[in-house]
Amino acid sequence: MTNTSRKITEGELAEKIGAENLALVLDNVYCAECGQTVMVEYEDDIVVEPSGDTILHGKCKRCGNKVARLLETGEEK
Ligand SMILES: [Zn+2]
Repeated sequence: MTNTSRKITEGELAEKIGAENLALVLDNVYCAECGQTVMVEYEDDIVVEPSGDTILHGKCKRCGNKVARLLETGEEK
């Protein structure tokens, strides 16, 4: 069992969840300042956790605050 998280590229993530889903996710991010917002500059910090879930770290398009979004990619359905 591995305990390490690893980074993947935006392309790998798009393949994993589908480009349309990725676009939906990026448009539905919560910012503490703005509420619902759009995530930008996430491309360099896409992390897959040991559980299989993916976490995106980016910035709020409106105010530039750091935002993160968990994707439950660990559970295949
Ligand atoms: Zn914001």
